[in-house]
Amino acid sequence: MVIRPRTAVIGAGMAGLTCATDLRAAGHSVVVFDKARGPGGRMSTRRLALETGEAAFDHGASSFTAAGADFRAQVEAWMLQGLAAPWAAAGPGCFVGLPAMNTPLKAMAAELETRWTCPVAGLSREGSAWRLEGAAEVEGLFDRVVLAIPAEQAAVLLATVQPAFAALAQASPSAPCWSLMVVFERPVESPLAVLTGGEVVAWAGREASKPGRAGPEAWVIQACPIWSRENLEITAEEAASRLLRGFEVLLGRASPRSVSTVAHRWRYARPEGPPRDVLWDPETGLGVCGDWLGGGSVEGAWRSGRQLASLLTER
Ligand SMILES: Cc1cc2nc3c(=O)[nH]c(=O)nc-3n(C[C@H](O)[C@H](O)[C@H](O)COP(=O)(O)OP(=O)(O)OC[C@H]3O[C@@H](n4cnc5c(N)ncnc54)[C@H](O)[C@@H]3O)c2cc1C
Repeated sequence: MVIRPRTAVIGAGMAGLTCATDLRAAGHSVVVFDKARGPGGRMSTRRLALETGEAAFDHGASSFTAAGADFRAQVEAWMLQGLAAPWAAAGPGCFVGLPAMNTPLKAMAAELETRWTCPVAGLSREGSAWRLEGAAEVEGLFDRVVLAIPAEQAAVLLATVQPAFAALAQASPSAPCWSLMVVFERPVESPLAVLTGGEVVAWAGREASKPGRAGPEAWVIQACPIWSRENLEITAEEAASRLLRGFEVLLGRASPRSVSTVAHRWRYARPEGPPRDVLWDPETGLGVCGDWLGGGSVEGAWRSGRQLASLLTER
């Protein structure tokens, strides 16, 4: 009888879900844990019920590209399943989840054993096995643990159990990003659905211009990394009003009255380092993947998850 290792995957973003999907396909027993209420991570979609209808915002990654043939094949498979589509307004070669950014991740998560609202507070060894600390403790022991979370958060969990990996994670900082979700009472007068390049606002996009979306005049407005870092600790209200002003500068005119504004602070939005190999310690069964090892993009996160799964399933 073949005994398959029991693996805990911490993080249900693109990296963790890709790794878990590949492990499961190879016959491994996998449980995915995430502190959030559902899958997506930085590819999440936030929904807001308004009198004028439901607004949906891809308030993390607004689109993604597929430079490598391997990820292009994956995106094509998602498109055939109706889970993703090109988004012309963002430029050639840009894709989004359909009808929301998190759709491909939801599809992966639906095939997996998952635990939501389940933050993993620490890792400890029990004999040759792993125990997860926090709400996940009741799940018992695991033969292997995969960390698929931002570098800064991985560094905390790795500190006591794998200091060498923790040091690498600590040396991999991410740029923050303030992201504003705004609904205007009438359409913004702009020939373009995507605007880029301001000093405060780096990027702004009309959500309804994406394929498969409807609803009120919702925009996502992302601040520049430098501005976000300098203003990381301001309140969400202050960020909202300053980003709206920055949007008007980019637009070159006043914007319509806003009926709803919600600013979200991504402390660890985009890792700044180059792609590198995933981390894997076969002695203890501890692996690390995530966009910070994959070059800081959706594609990099996907590739790192795949790379780690392939190491874990090597004979
Ligand atoms: C504002 C913004 C704009 C972006 N724009 C683009 C873009 O245009 N193109 C592009 O390619 N990429 C973009 N990105 C980056 C892209 O979203 C990420 O590279 C990718 O989604 C990261 O995936 P991941 O699986 O590595 O991590 P994540 O998506 O961060 O997933 C990690 C998961 O781990 C969970 N978690 C963390 N700690 C714990 C814990 N202790 N216990 C349990 N769960 C935990 C989190 O809740 C999260 O769900 C953008 C990101 C942001 C924030």
